[in-house]
Amino acid sequence: MLAPDVVVWSVPMRTRFRGLTSRDGVLVRGDAGWGEFSPFWDYDDEESSSWWRAAHEAAELGWPEPVRDRVPVNVTVPAVDADTARRIVLASGGCRTAKVKVAERGQDVSDEVARLEAVRDAIGPDGAIRVDANAAWDVDEAVRRLAVLDGAAGGLEYAEQPVPTVDDLAALRRRTHVPIAADESIRRAADPLAVARAHAADVVVLKVQPLGGVRACLELAERIGLPVVVSSALESSVGLAAGVALAAALPELPYACGLATAQLLTADLVADPLLPADGALPVRRPLPDAALVAAAAADDELDARWRARTAAVRGLLTRPERA
Ligand SMILES: [Mg+2]
Repeated sequence: MLAPDVVVWSVPMRTRFRGLTSRDGVLVRGDAGWGEFSPFWDYDDEESSSWWRAAHEAAELGWPEPVRDRVPVNVTVPAVDADTARRIVLASGGCRTAKVKVAERGQDVSDEVARLEAVRDAIGPDGAIRVDANAAWDVDEAVRRLAVLDGAAGGLEYAEQPVPTVDDLAALRRRTHVPIAADESIRRAADPLAVARAHAADVVVLKVQPLGGVRACLELAERIGLPVVVSSALESSVGLAAGVALAAALPELPYACGLATAQLLTADLVADPLLPADGALPVRRPLPDAALVAAAAADDELDARWRARTAAVRGLLTRPERA
């Protein structure tokens, strides 16, 4: 693919998130449009190959037809103080569901209780609140912690990946009334169906890039047979559009999706970013804007790193034994 059809971008995050202060990646253009390739830097080339397949699908194939024209989304509340949490919910574009990060290193349960109380106050009694612990707890700690957080939130919709393994999730699920969602146990697992077989979750989180594209996710959703929440991998609106396409094509969509993450970035690559209105994203595919892409252009060193990484990952996929 020639130079103008590949651009490397980097944008600062508004708040430190997943240990990141900026987000970067590659946009690639093909016959069907632009795709985004933006695996986190702690993912090796092998694991990043699914991310490339998703970018390739977006650029070369496009996505299946939608069955809905709007996708309800949650506001994401990072591990911030209570006042900031309240402000984020109130500025969320009408989101009726909040996902609250917990188990942040350096914080304790009192920080989480204060955050959840503030979120409940801001979202009102009819709003839904879920927490995400990113696999930080063991089963005993999760049992204790979820009881406290469920009380502070006035009821949790679910807890996302409170514990690391499928066995842990299954054990925890027998010991708490809070529904359990599997995230890392799906997207980083050798066998994403193990969660369903072990009755380890009530909900599964699917992310387009880590799971290799919209079609791969639709197929996986059908095989798993559990309710799906589509979430982002903190993409620009170009990458988010693939998540919206998946959410729009799923036969059932009972929960708000985690796709309202464009506002976690200080800038976007499209003039009309995928931001929620009335708590939902419209089903559409925004185009990169030349001026915004130029403004977000990576420096020479990062540009070279991404080009090398992209070439290495594509090389893995085109080796004859993998064809
Ligand atoms: Mg998660």
